[in-house]
Amino acid sequence: MIHATNISKTYGQTKVLNKVDFSLAPAEIVSIIGPSGAGKTTLLHILGTLDRPDKSEETKLEIEGIDMTRLSDKELSSFRNQQLGFVFQFHQLLPEFTALENICLPAYIKGTSKDKAERKATELLRFFGLQNRAEHKPAMLSGGEQQRIAVARALINKPSLLLADEPSGNLDTVAAEQLHDLFFKLRDEFSISIILVTHNKDLAIRADRMLKLVDGQWS
Ligand code: ADP
Repeated sequence: MIHATNISKTYGQTKVLNKVDFSLAPAEIVSIIGPSGAGKTTLLHILGTLDRPDKSEETKLEIEGIDMTRLSDKELSSFRNQQLGFVFQFHQLLPEFTALENICLPAYIKGTSKDKAERKATELLRFFGLQNRAEHKPAMLSGGEQQRIAVARALINKPSLLLADEPSGNLDTVAAEQLHDLFFKLRDEFSISIILVTHNKDLAIRADRMLKLVDGQWS
């Protein structure tokens, strides 16, 4: 699924990531933990092609057999739209759109018809037990519901990989647990691979593998 070798990232004089290797198998769930400032988000952004690693001969980033370092920005955004799903700490749903419309957005960007997108979004709402929230705007939803809608939005184009950055960081214990259960259900039902950056111990240890990043290196 992912083969990354020698990933470094430097901001000015600061080396945030130092020759990090990473690999992920299909349908595997990996958690990444570590202290604040360790470089977790930076690594997740690079693995998700939202950011590029420092250039070097030894640096490789292959996702689904495709060499990401060779793609143009335009090709990368198309790849992201179709193959990758992102979930962030704050749901980042658009406030003036309904839950259903928010879920449909990545499908519209891909060029999917309104009918087809809405059908798929409705299926996802049902899968998440949120079918009666389709017409709700984000402000009318609980934190847990907002986050599940954000996960549905990440899934509408059927990505093979989901990347989540502190997905339950803003939720109470019960809503967090519900969201965590959902990640494992997604993996079991759709064979999706998941990378979770998290401070939540319960979630981190449930993963197939837990990795710890300290000062830009595995520890
Ligand atoms: P973590 O997710 O583990 O808390 P981050 O990856 O967010 O760590 O950040 C690691 C370090 O990189 C921090 O010291 C942060 O200030 C720095 N950093 C992150 N993004 C940038 C940026 N765009 N410009 C400069 N420094 C950055």
